[in-house]
Amino acid sequence: MNYDFSDKEFNLFVEIHTLISEFVKDKNLESSDINTSAENIRQALALLSQTPYLKLGVEKAENYNGLLTLMGAMEVIAGTSPSLFLSIETSTRIFGRILSTWGSDSQKEKLLNPLLNGQIIGAVGLSEDALNVDNDPLTTTAVADGDSVKISGHKQYVINGPTADWIAVVGMMNGKNVICLVEKGTPGLTIGEKTATLGYEGVAISKIILNDCTIASSQVITPKNDKDMLNTLKLWENQILIGAGLGLMKTAFESAKDHSKKHKTGGKPIIAYQEVGFKLSEMLTLFQTSQLFAYRAAWTADTDPKNVESLTLCAKVFCTESAEQVASEAMKILGGSGFLSGHPVEEAFRCSKYGQIAGTSTEISRVKIGDTALGMNK
Ligand SMILES: Cc1cc2nc3c(=O)[nH]c(=O)nc-3n(C[C@H](O)[C@H](O)[C@H](O)COP(=O)(O)OP(=O)(O)OC[C@H]3O[C@@H](n4cnc5c(N)ncnc54)[C@H](O)[C@@H]3O)c2cc1C
Repeated sequence: MNYDFSDKEFNLFVEIHTLISEFVKDKNLESSDINTSAENIRQALALLSQTPYLKLGVEKAENYNGLLTLMGAMEVIAGTSPSLFLSIETSTRIFGRILSTWGSDSQKEKLLNPLLNGQIIGAVGLSEDALNVDNDPLTTTAVADGDSVKISGHKQYVINGPTADWIAVVGMMNGKNVICLVEKGTPGLTIGEKTATLGYEGVAISKIILNDCTIASSQVITPKNDKDMLNTLKLWENQILIGAGLGLMKTAFESAKDHSKKHKTGGKPIIAYQEVGFKLSEMLTLFQTSQLFAYRAAWTADTDPKNVESLTLCAKVFCTESAEQVASEAMKILGGSGFLSGHPVEEAFRCSKYGQIAGTSTEISRVKIGDTALGMNK
């Protein structure tokens, strides 16, 4: 195990930090306007396509350490703009990995290259009414009709739903889980209004409805092991939420640290009060422990994929729960200013709630981690 980043990796982190922080200046990334969200994500993707970032974890990127490099890079982008991060990662690291892992050569040629060049946006529709696919089988169906396939069903919340060019819809066909690649504008596909959310307001999230939505059978992906496919989709989502947690903690910690040195009460900077120092030290401990956990889970995903699920769930629970704690403590150090709408720490606090409920929730993760420890999941 070696989690030290090379000079090349550090240079990549600096490059993407510079690109994204320049880009976010003067932009309203938390705008609830769909056209603004779409424009923001397209411009950011075009910028990032000039770096190896979009390829990490999707294609082999020479001289980078796979998911470990990706985890370091995700922290940078999530720390700069949580909303851009969630949109880009859903498109690249879930929609993109669906194509690179299970897609046919022609599907890859048609969609993967444009995706990695930042020319198209992808979305993934998995969860439904009961939302949690761990407990409830999918009700979206795909039925063969000659050379076509008709899809019917609905997905409750889809990140990038209103902005995506293509949506990977997961449903059941002949008793197996399949993924249907549906292009925006396909007859029978209805995209709902953007849903307002507590955090990540700049992400366009909506319901999607499929009513005999007809696609060519060549647009259906049928992975050999369809149960593994669902677990893999959740694993990828959990990896993104771990990266988000790191970025949120970085923002919260750095902001509280700066404030504690600049803001004065009783004639001295508040860092001079031991209780403030204790808070910062507790926040840093949680942040750095989360980083190590995240790097270990990323490294294991590349080197020992059979044993990655439980470790990733442990890392996901630790990182996402720590993100809320670190953001909450940071708000206390910031006093009134941290409570103002639009402050990065206030935003980090709101966004941190999503990490706990999305992917495999904290509670379901704990059940699964316990089952694995007791050997009950075989
Ligand atoms: C903003 C947003 C964006 C989203 N984007 C997408 C997207 O792009 N694509 C997509 O497919 N989905 C998306 N989702 C759906 C998301 O993945 C689900 O909301 C999430 O899986 C939680 O499911 P749920 O709301 O049904 O909660 P439930 O699973 O019903 O959970 C409710 C509570 O019960 C607990 N619980 C449930 N089952 C168990 C169990 N077996 N053991 C212990 N505790 C349990 C949970 O931990 C939680 O506390 C999004 C959701 C939101 C809010």
